[in-house]
Amino acid sequence: HLPTADLQALDAAHHMHPFTTNDDLGKKGARIITRAKGIYLTDSEGNEILDAMAGLWCVNLGYGREEMGKVAARQMNELPYYNTFFQTTHVPAIALAKELADLAPGDLNHVFFAGSGSEANDTNLRMVRTYWAQKGKPEKSHIISRKNAYHGSSVGSASLGGMTPMHEQGGLPIPGIHHIGQPDWYAEGGDQSPEEFGLARARELEEKILELGADKVAAFIGEPVQGAGGVVIPPSTYWPEIQRICEKHDILLIADEVICGFGRTGNWFGSQTMGITPHIMTIAKGLSSGYAPIGGSIVCDEVAEVINACEFNHGYTYSGHPVCAAVALENLRIMQEENIIDHVRDVAAPALKEALEKLGEHPLVGGVNVSGLMASLPLTPHKESRAKFATDGGVAGYTCREHCFANNLVMRHVGDRMIISPPLIITPEEIKIFAERATKALDATYADLKDKD
Ligand code: PLP
Repeated sequence: HLPTADLQALDAAHHMHPFTTNDDLGKKGARIITRAKGIYLTDSEGNEILDAMAGLWCVNLGYGREEMGKVAARQMNELPYYNTFFQTTHVPAIALAKELADLAPGDLNHVFFAGSGSEANDTNLRMVRTYWAQKGKPEKSHIISRKNAYHGSSVGSASLGGMTPMHEQGGLPIPGIHHIGQPDWYAEGGDQSPEEFGLARARELEEKILELGADKVAAFIGEPVQGAGGVVIPPSTYWPEIQRICEKHDILLIADEVICGFGRTGNWFGSQTMGITPHIMTIAKGLSSGYAPIGGSIVCDEVAEVINACEFNHGYTYSGHPVCAAVALENLRIMQEENIIDHVRDVAAPALKEALEKLGEHPLVGGVNVSGLMASLPLTPHKESRAKFATDGGVAGYTCREHCFANNLVMRHVGDRMIISPPLIITPEEIKIFAERATKALDATYADLKDKD
């Protein structure tokens, strides 16, 4: 290794980071992670950092699982690559598709593989439009999504997403994509009860469908729990009403399970936690615990039948990549062998909820949003009113994230919300360590901000 400062200088000179101001990198230098084990990262200075974000919400099994490396090496030696185009396939893709069909709810029995969540959502966009065109309704092509949603960074998936800063760069969204309000009761519920607010937000979908004409709308897409949008837990009334409206107007329902899938909310899929059965689920991240880049769409019988009957002119060189598929299979095998879902539901999620409720008493924290092992703590200058900071735009969140790092803790910030999404294997003892470090970071942030707002 070169010394940290030299590596940082090379990084700033040559490496373009996603979602980063390179000015920051030049001034401060990037943190260089050199290895990881369990829930801990080690950086180039030897610090042991508790990763309460599981990387980017994905390292569900934790770091350093040697079984995964062994499976990858074996598959690389046996068949490192072959494609799944035309009439070819291979055993890892077949086995993974079958496993996913068994795990997925309802009649979601078919898998179209991709290399990432973005690619999978691009697949969904084209698949739902193709589905309706094949059924003789090509004009049924509009897709409704939600403001502040994140569905990926490709042109199609970023258009499905509802993040204004992303739309502003590159002239998005592409035509035919519409965004309604998100069910964020904490931020936008006002005087309404969560249940009333959930229904009102769901009914925005019906209003949008009626405005466009149901014969023009192909699908609605949403995350069961919006992740990068700030961990937005919808009120209990929201998703059943969305499903009812989709059924009433003959509109396909796509659940983006890229974060929520594979145990994050205490069930295999967030759709199960929210009590809905979508026609298509987007998967990635936890599918391989982030050990290999793989994603896909799990598709119901009816849609798959129509798509399989035509030539769907869509696919990726790495659709169902054998090494990635083998790693994903091993990930799912370990998850089942170690009863990870039960661990989340019965052990880790209750311990995290308890710890967060305690953190929620901190003067800087306005509330607690939590579902399973995904959570956010919105920061506020006035606890009683849950007011926003005058410097809305993430200064408080950014400051807190930096104090987390100083205390060897990774928490991400979305604006002024602190995000928590640890590896699913986290133990109650480790959650205590998380809470101690988070408290120190909140105290330091409070001291920094007290006189400024
Ligand atoms: N969908 C959701 C809900 C996500 O959170 C993400 C990534 O964070 C994506 C899609 C895009 O996945 P990827 O980064 O693998 O392309």
